[in-house]
Amino acid sequence: MAEMSWAAGTQCVAKGDHRKPKPGELAYHKGDILTIIETSTKKGFYKAKHNSSGEEGLINSTNVREREALRVDPSLSLMPWFHGKISGPDAVCKLQPAEDGLFLVRESIRHPGDYVLCVAVSGKVIHYRVIYQDNKLTIDNTQYFYNLIDMIEFYSKNKGSIATTLLKPKQKHGAKSAEVELSKTGWLLDISKLTLGENIGEGEFGAVYEGEYMGQKVAVKTIKCDVTAQAFLQETTVMTKLQHKNLVRLLGVILHKGLHIVTELMTKGNLANFVRTRGRSVINSVQLLHFSLDVCEGMEYLESKKLVHRDLAARNVLVSDDNVAKVSDFGLTKLDSKVSDNVKLPVKWTAPEALKKEKFSTKSDVWSYGVLLWEIFSYGRQPYPKMSLSEVKEKVEGGYRMEAPEDCPPAVYSLMRICWEQEPRRRPTFHKLREKLERETGKLNPDLGSEGREGIRCGSGC
Ligand code: ADP
Repeated sequence: MAEMSWAAGTQCVAKGDHRKPKPGELAYHKGDILTIIETSTKKGFYKAKHNSSGEEGLINSTNVREREALRVDPSLSLMPWFHGKISGPDAVCKLQPAEDGLFLVRESIRHPGDYVLCVAVSGKVIHYRVIYQDNKLTIDNTQYFYNLIDMIEFYSKNKGSIATTLLKPKQKHGAKSAEVELSKTGWLLDISKLTLGENIGEGEFGAVYEGEYMGQKVAVKTIKCDVTAQAFLQETTVMTKLQHKNLVRLLGVILHKGLHIVTELMTKGNLANFVRTRGRSVINSVQLLHFSLDVCEGMEYLESKKLVHRDLAARNVLVSDDNVAKVSDFGLTKLDSKVSDNVKLPVKWTAPEALKKEKFSTKSDVWSYGVLLWEIFSYGRQPYPKMSLSEVKEKVEGGYRMEAPEDCPPAVYSLMRICWEQEPRRRPTFHKLREKLERETGKLNPDLGSEGREGIRCGSGC
């Protein structure tokens, strides 16, 4: 076998238990995630950090494998047993040979909006009508569920009032079980190791909670609606590929009554609120420049992966405990440049060509970055103050651009302006922007090299 070599930061999954480590070695259990720190002088060994316990030690590379990214795959399904609109006789055919507990769910043809749970038992197929009423699903008017995933989870563990517990899903042709794929690649986390804490935010599709996963502080986004959860699987798939200090890191997902996306906890919330609530008296322009540079570096990384964010704004940038800004919310991130669905666009942040012709690109992200710079340097003001969305669309198309925020360094305002070039090609790349920002940061802090950077991040007041 060719000798592998893992770079620092590589995430690995333990293939088995290592309960009795020798001195200097790390203990772990099968499935634990470990981050490579560096190669060791001992052949075949790496120095690694246990992602949950934070402990460091040596690991033998043959006992772990690299955590793979998930491939973006539309057939990846949270509901592989869902067959859509098929008839009762079709369902019976699909459940042959009718082993006990083999099941599928179909949409009811006779009662639109309802579903049917078809289960094989004693060589026959029983069809249970699943009634949708008051936003809930029920078979027996006793057990109620928010969604199908929830219902299947329940009847897989409990017989309730049906003939048998559900033992084996009959997968729709071409569907791949997200649960199986996530588990194989090491991204499926265990709900029993999660402690949920307080609600810390409300997203468009679900609440965000603080929590702890095996000793590590995490944020958990819960998505209860099964259709939305399926759509978010895409976001998660994209996140499995990305590792950068300025992107909010995905730890994994939990499948339980919907989808839970577990990420690192960014204790200081979103950047818009952060700068708004602290204001000029606490945050100076050097610190604002650092946030700008953080976001730019995260975006430069996305640019290098040819990924387009599409929803870059200060509300989607989060601030860590040690005041590092990281880009989050990859809900709309796509490899291609066309919007397939009718998503609501954040007009004040979206480049004109993206608004008009749905042409999204890294260069439309650069436009949004210009607006984000404006938000940062105006301490969290709403862009285009007092203008309606239609007014913004019309005026920006006609060449109108926002003025510089109060006390904004002229060099930063010129960066905003080049981000807002009408012609996408004339806008800089994130790579170029980062170079320019670094120069500005250096000018404002002539005494500080890159090592000094942490020191001048927001002081105790932040
Ligand atoms: P939306 O769906 O509106 O884009 P999110 O669901 O991503 O928003 O997040 C809503 C809010 O929850 C954020 O504005 C932020 O305050 C909080 N939040 C989200 N993710 C995290 C995190 N990893 N750490 C801390 N807070 C978070």
